[in-house]
This record gives sequence, structure tokens and C-alpha cells, in this order.
Amino acid sequence: MDLIAEAIKGTGDVLPGNAYKWHYIEKTVSDVAALFGFREIRTPVFEKTELFERSVGDTTDVVQKEMYTFNDKGGRSITLRPEGTAGAVRSILEHGLFNEALPVKAYYITSCYRYEKPQAGRLREFHQFGVECIGAAAPTADAEIIMLGDMVLKRLGIKNISLEINSIGCPQCRAKYTAALKEYFAASKDKLCETCLSRLDRNPMRILDCKSPICREIAEGAPKILDYICDECNDHFNQVKAHLNAAGVKFTVNPRIVRGLDYYTKTVFEFISNDIGSQGAVCAGGRYDGLAEELGGPHLPSLGFGMGLERILMVMEKQGCPFPEEKKIDLYIAPMGGAAASEAVKICSLAREEGFAALTDVAGRGLKAQMKYADKIGAKFTLVLGENELNSKSARLKNMQSGEQIDVELPDGVISAIYDETIKNTFADLESSLENLKI
Ligand code: ATP
Ligand code: MG
Repeated sequence: MDLIAEAIKGTGDVLPGNAYKWHYIEKTVSDVAALFGFREIRTPVFEKTELFERSVGDTTDVVQKEMYTFNDKGGRSITLRPEGTAGAVRSILEHGLFNEALPVKAYYITSCYRYEKPQAGRLREFHQFGVECIGAAAPTADAEIIMLGDMVLKRLGIKNISLEINSIGCPQCRAKYTAALKEYFAASKDKLCETCLSRLDRNPMRILDCKSPICREIAEGAPKILDYICDECNDHFNQVKAHLNAAGVKFTVNPRIVRGLDYYTKTVFEFISNDIGSQGAVCAGGRYDGLAEELGGPHLPSLGFGMGLERILMVMEKQGCPFPEEKKIDLYIAPMGGAAASEAVKICSLAREEGFAALTDVAGRGLKAQMKYADKIGAKFTLVLGENELNSKSARLKNMQSGEQIDVELPDGVISAIYDETIKNTFADLESSLENLKI
């Protein structure tokens, strides 16, 4: 029979040898989120299609071209989440969390699905770390969200990231801008792609986000939103910039950023890396003051971002950012014979109770092959158990790094010896780091 040995195009696997990198990234983003008062939210992988049509917007690329939508067996239209905000906000509204202390601060690490052309940094299943701050109108909230993203990137050791920000105004100033855009694009009507032509009347701002080269070229000369935003939006934007300056966060204003999702208002931003090719946006977000109302909830000025974790990992690998070492196996016991195997299983169990990772033979291999295996998995200590060891109730524990061997009593002496050695090593590590710090 043929092996079904290929994953679906645009999806990826995290193999056991790589999972520690993901754990490190996930731990870092969760820790930083907690420092800013965000707690985790988990929502379903699929939602009613209508949720995304109403929030992301039915003239966006995401909704028009990229969603995984299907009818379930009950005939309901279901969509795999293309992003995390809609589900998080839906959940916060459904459970009335906004009746508690505002803002509601929630973060997630989640898979997203978009039917896009797979390429480096662009997948059909990808993962986002996202934060949503619901019920926070002040410009300090915008600055803090951006600072959160900035801190995550710094903690992960990522360098050479540029932060670009813009304001896309509120529905009031947007009306004037939309009219100006309509007039501008109408003059090049015959050159626009089919999708953009359909957007011309309904949502001309979306044309600015089109990936087709001709539309992009036309968009170059389009009117800029910053020339149209109202006094309130302008003042808000100025305060965001002032807060970022005060906090020492470097940014540039890029009037071309409009973002690909309809729910954004006022501040929008992107963190961009030049190290991973053309899909360089590693984190993107902004304010979405109208979304909660759009979904039938109360008026709740809100904001957030989504960070693409595959792209983060790509940048880290490209830049050689350090990942903490994967936890090694502490003890490998090589038994010879059935009685020794039983003793090995018992000692492994005692070691695990004390928090040490311990393995013994489960493949029925001879001593030589077992020692080769112990070496391959990087076991810190090994113990050989044969008839002599069982009779004398003592064995030699070998420190695989130093080569040093200690006689230990079976079974408890094994555990206390590993314990002593581990403490000794921890102190040695601490001493050398203190020495490095010259304390
Ligand atoms: P892009 O301009 O790259 O298509 P976007 O505007 O569609 O991005 P958002 O919807 O704001 O992106 O998603 C936030 C982040 O999620 C992006 O900045 C990126 O890091 C990541 N991301 C988006 N789409 C993909 C994808 N198909 N594959 C991998 N990561 C993605
Ligand atoms: Mg996109």
C-alpha cells in the first residue's frame, strides 16, 4: 500500500527535535503578555462564517479570497478562523466580560487558516500570538500595545526590526477620504484588477492593500489618509507618537499602511523584518473602535495585534538568536538480563518521582548498542546493571561529561548521587556566571 506521506500544501509539522523552539517562543510571549496584564483566552478553531464577514469585512482579500469556508452536515456555513481577533471579541461579548473591570485584556496563541499561495513566510495554516485590549480609548493603550510587541521581539533577541505606524482615522474622517480615493481611482478604472474594480464603489481603501503590481503602481499616487483625518484622530495619533517617543520606542510614520482587515480605526502599525524576504511583516495590528458594536455589542474602543510565529521563528533562525538548550535526559540505565531490567524500571521510576528524566532499555538491545543510544540522546549519567551489581546492591554511576565514576548503593544511592551532582553543577554554573558579572 502507498504511504500517505505528504502533508497538505502550505501546512507544516513541528517535529520533536524542534518543539523546544516553539515552547521557548510561546513561553516568552505569554510571560510578556502577563507583564502587561493580559490573560489567555482560547476560542474554537471554527466560527460562523458571518462573524468574519462582518468583522474582517466582506471586501477584504481575507474574506473574498482566502477563507476556508464549508457547510457542515447541518447545512450551516462554517469558517476556519483566518485570524484571532473576531473569535476573541465574539467570546468576550458573548460571556459579558466587558461588564467586569475594563479594559478586558486577553491574549492567545492560535492556529489560523488562509487559502493563500504558499511561499516562504506565507502558509495556509500558520500560528499567531495575538493580544486584544477591549475597552481602552486612551492613546496610552495604543502605545502600550506597541510596546508589548516591541518587548516580545527584544526578549527573543530579534534585531533590525522597523516599526511603522499610521492612523487611518475614524468613520467620520474616512468618509471624506473614501470620496477622494474614489475620485482618484475612478480615473484609472480600466487598469484596476477585477477585485479592485468591485471595491471601487464599496470600499476603495481596500485597493491600497491590493497585491497586484498594477494596482500597487496606481496606488502609489493616491491621496494620503493623514491629510484627511479629523482633529480628534490627529490629536490621538500625536499623543500615541509622544508616548512612544517618551518610552524610547523608535518608529517611522508610513502613510501607506492601511491594513488588510476592515475593522481597523485610528492607529495601525506593523513590525517589519528585512531578513526574511518579501513576507517581512512579523507583527501587525491596530485600533478597532467599532468592532464590538459591529458584532452587536456595546461601544467598546479596543485594539490589538497579531504576530506571525512562523515568521518570528524564521527571523530568529536567520539571525542566529539563541534558544535555551533543550532539557536533556538525566539518567540512562543499561540492564543486562531480566532481573536487572526490573531493577532498572524501579530506579527509573524513583528518579522520575524526584524530577529527573530517566530512561532504560525498551528495545531489547545489547549493552554496546544501549551505550551508543545513551550517548546519542545526551544522557548526563549512565548506570550499567548486571548480575554482580544486583548481588552486591551497588553499581557505578558514570558522569558522561567528565567521565568520572562513582560507586552508588542500589537503589536510593543512585538518586542521591544524581541529586548531589546536579546541585554541584548548578553552583558551578552560578559561580561562573557571577564571575563573568564580576560580582
Ligand atoms: P500580509 O501583508 O503579510 O499578508 P496580513 O496583513 O494579511 O499580512 P494580518 O492579518 O494582520 O496579516 O496578520 C498578522 C500577522 O500574521 C502578519 O503580520 C504575519 O506575521 C502573520 N501572517 C498573516 N498571514 C500569514 C500567512 N499566510 N502565513 C504566515 N503568517 C501569516
Ligand atoms: Mg495577508
